[in-house]
Amino acid sequence: MRFFEVEVVNKQILSPSFIRITFKGDAVKNMVVHAPDQWLKLFIPNEDGSVEKVIGHNQYLKFPDNIRPPMRTYTIRELRSEILEFDIDFVVHGDEGPASRWAISAKIHDKMQIRAHSKSADKTPSGCKWLPPSDAENLYIFADETAMPATLAIIESLAKLKPPPKLTVFIEVPTEEDILTTEKWGQLKLTWLVRNSNDKYGEKLYESSKSIELRNSKENTYFWIAAEKNAVRKIKMHFSQISNINKKSIMHIAYWINS
Ligand SMILES: Cc1cc2nc3c(=O)[nH]c(=O)nc-3n(C[C@H](O)[C@H](O)[C@H](O)COP(=O)(O)OP(=O)(O)OC[C@H]3O[C@@H](n4cnc5c(N)ncnc54)[C@H](O)[C@@H]3O)c2cc1C
Repeated sequence: MRFFEVEVVNKQILSPSFIRITFKGDAVKNMVVHAPDQWLKLFIPNEDGSVEKVIGHNQYLKFPDNIRPPMRTYTIRELRSEILEFDIDFVVHGDEGPASRWAISAKIHDKMQIRAHSKSADKTPSGCKWLPPSDAENLYIFADETAMPATLAIIESLAKLKPPPKLTVFIEVPTEEDILTTEKWGQLKLTWLVRNSNDKYGEKLYESSKSIELRNSKENTYFWIAAEKNAVRKIKMHFSQISNINKKSIMHIAYWINS
């Protein structure tokens, strides 16, 4: 992975819960996307917009606590290396979290330090979980809003295959207006779940996971589960207990912790 600085060149409100920020920088030409859920690390600037220069992991750890910039993980929604740009879709969940707060107030020309995978340093896939084997016949995705950017990037990448595979997707979002348009094909079953104000995070995803019927035990299934930590644990446990599912085919990652 490489550390470098980028600059905000565009900001777009996608929906009530999403802001898309486009970053640009010379070093973007060396960034690599091994899979559509490729993530990177952001070092959130100070409140006045100034950035603490981060040049290495050990140097980062040596920052005094009151100066060390918060580090957060985000998905590269789209990389356009040829024009040195990439997008990140931020979930805005108020101003309690430094990343959400930064995204809400970000302006063109604001700077951001990042740590991203690079073509030269990361030759084998890393920083991603979506790596289905070529013989996977039936793909499943369970995602909340934080994993929606990765999920839409996965859907877009699969839509390019000829033919696109059998894919079942559940995405849980905070509001009806957060439902975004994406690719469609015959074997894609995409269900949007809108959370009610009294629902626990990921509860609708968990309920949906229990509704899945896996009738054909010979079919190679592949699962990608990314959401709030507790929901991920419950969904993963549910599928792990089904005897005809290969446990190694269940990819799961907590995208955030409800604290
Ligand atoms: C591999 C990976 C990829 C990710 N990709 C994206 C992405 O593309 N877009 C994206 O928006 N997020 C993404 N996330 C999730 C993001 O890193 C977390 O939501 C992160 O905690 C946000 O940091 P923060 O500084 O805003 O809040 P924090 O300082 O981490 O948390 C502050 C408070 O906000 C709460 N909180 C954090 N996130 C949320 C949320 N989404 N909704 C409600 N409350 C929340 C916490 O429980 C805490 O109480 C990804 C995470 C991982 C691991």
